[in-house]
Amino acid sequence: MNFDLEPADVAFRAEMRALIRDLLPADIARRGRQGFHATHDDVQTWMRLLNARGLAAVHWPTEYGGTDWSPLRKHLFQIELRAAGAPVPDQAALELVGPVICTFGNAAQKAQYLPAILNADTFWCQGFSEPNSGSDLASLKTSAMRDGDHYVVNGQKTWTSEAHKADMMFALVRTDSEARPQAGISFMLIDMKSPGVSVRPIYTINEGLSVNEVFFDNVRVPAENLVGEENRGWGYAKFLLTNERTMSAETPHTAFDLSMVQEIAAAEPKDGRPVIEDPLFAARLARFEIDLIALEATVVRVLHMGEDDPGLNAAASVLKVRGSELRQRIADLAVEALGDHGLAVFPDVEGQDNMDVLAPVPPAPGHAAGWLSRAMFRRATTIYGGANEIQRTIIAKSVLGL
Ligand SMILES: Cc1cc2nc3c(=O)[nH]c(=O)nc-3n(C[C@H](O)[C@H](O)[C@H](O)COP(=O)(O)OP(=O)(O)OC[C@H]3O[C@@H](n4cnc5c(N)ncnc54)[C@H](O)[C@@H]3O)c2cc1C
Repeated sequence: MNFDLEPADVAFRAEMRALIRDLLPADIARRGRQGFHATHDDVQTWMRLLNARGLAAVHWPTEYGGTDWSPLRKHLFQIELRAAGAPVPDQAALELVGPVICTFGNAAQKAQYLPAILNADTFWCQGFSEPNSGSDLASLKTSAMRDGDHYVVNGQKTWTSEAHKADMMFALVRTDSEARPQAGISFMLIDMKSPGVSVRPIYTINEGLSVNEVFFDNVRVPAENLVGEENRGWGYAKFLLTNERTMSAETPHTAFDLSMVQEIAAAEPKDGRPVIEDPLFAARLARFEIDLIALEATVVRVLHMGEDDPGLNAAASVLKVRGSELRQRIADLAVEALGDHGLAVFPDVEGQDNMDVLAPVPPAPGHAAGWLSRAMFRRATTIYGGANEIQRTIIAKSVLGL
């Protein structure tokens, strides 16, 4: 990809590429390049190696462990991480709750939670969605009633990614049921080991386990776990959701996938010749590459927009819509390039939680591993992080004035 980088940025990118190559353990890189889910141990090992270099959360403010790099350099670093096969870190912690605590948390919360996130001592999950409150999030019902120096939490969250592994949840809870919906919500940090918290797995179409239902039955949460002010949680959530949508462009991941599909298409035969020589497939791959370059250019443009830019919200929605569609398209292209091998579901022997329900390794080349599973799971990319229909409505209202 050509970003027309300044020579100093080209040198920075080369420096980061070499640093990551030297720092990333070979076995972790190998698993990462196979595209399997990173294990808890791999994520923790890698986060700690990065943290020792001050590189665990380069996008955070410098006083909390971030860097003073330009937005472009932070992005280049992400591209190099993905290209090297580094494990995807705990995004709920680093991308979502971390910046909220940096911005709205008190001194005690910053001291308690931020270093533990940087060193991967605690893993987090996001407790926003409920059975009847997804797109219409402000209608959420999980309640938190003040009782002395605690809140008592009752209700249910759903689709909670990684709740089965998380130490902590950041949750939206209703602290005022009389006020208008948005004005009665608070942002709370809940220890997942608290008595009364139970987690039930939801197995997805690819037979993987990443999402869960979480139930709260009279869970006592210390009042000091409230972030910011009571009933102001909706504002903090909006700040967080904009970050989530920017993140969900996921261009570093898609660029990595594209390189893998190019390798597959050069290796897999179709009618006696490599798939890449099929003009129709080659044209679709080229179209995909152009779309990815265009999205990457938009990401870089958005990274340079000021935090107060009125266009930021709509831009984040554009990134979410295009990024999630490309995530789906590249996985579909991989399965197609693989031909019959694309039908094989591989057990994720080193990362999956439910190996026992998966079939044994099928007779297919290693580069086929995981693609069918990924293509199925990625139906979810246009739903999570705010469904694309909702993003389109935001774009229609704020950009097109409809
Ligand atoms: C794999 C996965 C992981 C997730 N991880 C998390 C997580 O970690 N934490 C968390 O809190 N949530 C998580 N979610 C939940 C996710 O944020 C919600 O699924 C999403 O916001 C949609 O809400 P819903 O499922 O209730 O669907 P609904 O809101 O019921 O929507 C159903 C359909 O109706 C459409 N629709 C709804 N309202 C409108 C409207 N006004 N205009 C046009 N169309 C509309 C939607 O676009 C969608 O197609 C995850 C979801 C998935 C699939």
